[in-house]
Amino acid sequence: MLAESRKQSWQEDISGPWLVKADLEPYLKKWSHYEYFTLEKFGESEEKVPLHLLKWGKGKIKIVLWSQMHGNEATATLAIIDIIEFFHHLEIENDQELKELRNNISIVFIPMLNPDGAQLFTRRNAHLVDMNRDAIKQQSSEMRAFFALLKSLKPDWAFNLHDQRTIFSVGAQRNCATLSYLAPSPDLARSKSKSRIKTMQLIAGMHHKTKSLLADHFGKYSDEFYPRAVGDNLMAADIPCVLLEAGAFPGDPKRSKARQLIFHNLIEAFNIISDSSFVDYSVEDYEAIPENEQLLRDVVFRDINYQGQICDIALQEQQTVIAGQWHSHYILDDLGDLSHLKGIQEYSGGQVEALQAFSLQKKVSMIYQDQSLKIILEDGRIS
Ligand SMILES: [Zn+2]
Repeated sequence: MLAESRKQSWQEDISGPWLVKADLEPYLKKWSHYEYFTLEKFGESEEKVPLHLLKWGKGKIKIVLWSQMHGNEATATLAIIDIIEFFHHLEIENDQELKELRNNISIVFIPMLNPDGAQLFTRRNAHLVDMNRDAIKQQSSEMRAFFALLKSLKPDWAFNLHDQRTIFSVGAQRNCATLSYLAPSPDLARSKSKSRIKTMQLIAGMHHKTKSLLADHFGKYSDEFYPRAVGDNLMAADIPCVLLEAGAFPGDPKRSKARQLIFHNLIEAFNIISDSSFVDYSVEDYEAIPENEQLLRDVVFRDINYQGQICDIALQEQQTVIAGQWHSHYILDDLGDLSHLKGIQEYSGGQVEALQAFSLQKKVSMIYQDQSLKIILEDGRIS
């Protein structure tokens, strides 16, 4: 059974957040030998790194999904790897449910659409273009290859897979939005076109079938129209497009919770598309998913004594790769009455001594201590 054998598929040997094309290579090599899968190159990045896709299935309904269009957003790439390995495992077991799925749908997986950005751990490509604002002009070689592929594929459904920042909370509850959905708008009027309604119904179905996996950690984005974005343009071209954003969870820096939620949501989506059961869900079901707010920060020190005043201090982690080296440090996000915010990690009471004068959006050097705990940050790093 698809649902029951999912746990065997986690690929423990590969994780984020910094995931580069070289990390994918052993998988691409394996996949090129998998029966029922076809590996193809469909273009090149600006730095001439091959862009790969993997096809599976022979059904009439065509699905395309891509990850890491933003190079530093690797969680969905990992979920795609898990799905491919899961399907391969079921193929070997001659699973009847999978066979049925294979006969109904065909999937084109594109893991890592921005390998240059992945290498540099940046959102943008090697020429500093944000691909998700390049759907119209297609100035990047990656988007030209991608849209040429879409033109020949003529997909019935598309999945645009991203990571979101840690600040996003589910509604006013201030829980982490570990998974966020969006059925993007096709126009400024945010019209509920036929494709958009289908997308909303599909998302409602995915949410219904997975929400119990991590209650109160699913949100959705506002449907503001982004005229240069990929999803919005696909919707405008009448291709239903689901946006999924992997998010944070307390104590889970590698986002393995979000990875699993993306995995389950995609499998449910394939099933719902395969049997057209999205018609069982309504636009109202979609609209009932709480909208994201930006009420979280990585660390909040609450009601602390800082230079004789009692205030709150919020820190945000910044992750970068400089000259091929991974760096992570905390910057000062805000200071004052931050009662509207919640920290993914929170410390209350005690005092903070600045080792260097605080400056907003700059690395922090400070000592925090209360009766039982002492945290020293030097140049933004916990030492
Ligand atoms: Zn993104």
